Amino acid sequence: MRITEKLMVKDQLISFEVFPPKTDSAFESIEWSVRELSAYNPDFMSVTYGAGGGTSQYTTKIASLIKNRLDTTALAHLTCASTPKDKIKEILDTLKENHIDNILAMRGDIPKGYEKPDGEYYEYAYELVKYIKEYGYFDIGGACYPECHPECDSLDKDIDHLKLKVDSGVDFLITQLFYDNDTFYSFLQKVRKKGIYAPVFAGIMPITNIKQIDRIISLSGTKLPCEVSNFLEKYKDSPEDLEKAGLDFAIKQINDLLANGVNGIHIYTMNKPYVARTVLKGITR
Ligand SMILES: Cc1cc2nc3c(=O)[nH]c(=O)nc-3n(C[C@H](O)[C@H](O)[C@H](O)COP(=O)(O)OP(=O)(O)OC[C@H]3O[C@@H](n4cnc5c(N)ncnc54)[C@H](O)[C@@H]3O)c2cc1C
Repeated sequence: MRITEKLMVKDQLISFEVFPPKTDSAFESIEWSVRELSAYNPDFMSVTYGAGGGTSQYTTKIASLIKNRLDTTALAHLTCASTPKDKIKEILDTLKENHIDNILAMRGDIPKGYEKPDGEYYEYAYELVKYIKEYGYFDIGGACYPECHPECDSLDKDIDHLKLKVDSGVDFLITQLFYDNDTFYSFLQKVRKKGIYAPVFAGIMPITNIKQIDRIISLSGTKLPCEVSNFLEKYKDSPEDLEKAGLDFAIKQINDLLANGVNGIHIYTMNKPYVARTVLKGITR
């Protein structure tokens, strides 16, 4: 089912993000996680796309497992920074053959030291969105950044770029992870004021360990509310307490977002079924 069709019958969607294996040998364990996660009946499951594009076949394989064997709506991520235009067309053909009808279209980042194959490329996500729109068949999602994309010098400018992307054919948006709901509400107000009316799903990544949160902060520079900084400090030597506090915080964050009418919650599950299970148990719907 298409995500826009889901939105016609449900006001608030709950979705999970998973990442595909990088090798054949890792396939089995990831397949197990994906099967467990799908058993919790999310409205859709998205599958990330490797930054260098070299493992794109696994994105399709996992998305196809979700859609065709687990009977769950699948959203395949696709990035254009490291994938030439002719390869993009091939991927769209393969996704369509596999009846995967939702794509999250992004620019992506070029990994350090990565040599781009020869070919023509789309520079920004809006160009990829335009191409997929012309191709037809797919519902198209786009990424957005409540705390501004790290390469853009102002949130206002970033939202102008977002407007161009949405006007190019985006049906729904998924945010970068954030921990401060007020930042999200203020972003949403700005987005609507600019005339962007696409549904926005809030990206939530429950904190489960210190290493993970350190990495997130160094990559995205996300703001941490005092409550989060406090429990990170308090439980820095107690992984179990830290995980519990992280999951409790995610539940509180999601309940507040749902009560305030968010269009959907997209949980970055890190392929951990217990994370999704614990969060789902705690949220009020
Ligand atoms: C929900 C979500 C899922 C993700 N999944 C993946 C994944 O599976 N694989 C992966 O590799 N990465 C993924 N990413 C990361 C994403 O690819 C990076 O954040 C990337 O740097 C930006 O991609 P984008 O599609 O937002 O780019 P764009 O929308 O193209 O924006 C990139 C930058 O360019 C600027 N810009 C846009 N249009 C213009 C213009 N016309 N002129 C000048 N500047 C412009 C924007 O302001 C921004 O600073 C994900 C991010 C999110 C939020």
